[in-house]
Amino acid sequence: MKEKYIKEKNPNWKGGTDRKRNKKEKIRTSAEYRKWKKTVIKRDKKCSQCPNNKNLEAHHIKSFSKFPNLIYNIENGITLCHKCHKTYHKLNGF
Ligand SMILES: [Zn+2]
Ligand SMILES: [Zn+2]
Repeated sequence: MKEKYIKEKNPNWKGGTDRKRNKKEKIRTSAEYRKWKKTVIKRDKKCSQCPNNKNLEAHHIKSFSKFPNLIYNIENGITLCHKCHKTYHKLNGF
């Protein structure tokens, strides 16, 4: 019952205590990651797949789970809008 309570109170709750997911979340919320994201978007200014320049997100060209040493490498970042980013991961996974 306690777990159900947490689930309902927290919309970001994904369930389970997957260590890998926790590690990814830690990277995503780190100040260094935010800085990387900002720099990548600033460089590209628009989505690389469509003319959209709103809701921009930075995507890792080489997945950061396979290439952890390239996580904060600007050369490994590309700008995608939220929609294209979602589509990309739907087709290619994470
Ligand atoms: Zn991505
Ligand atoms: Zn786009």
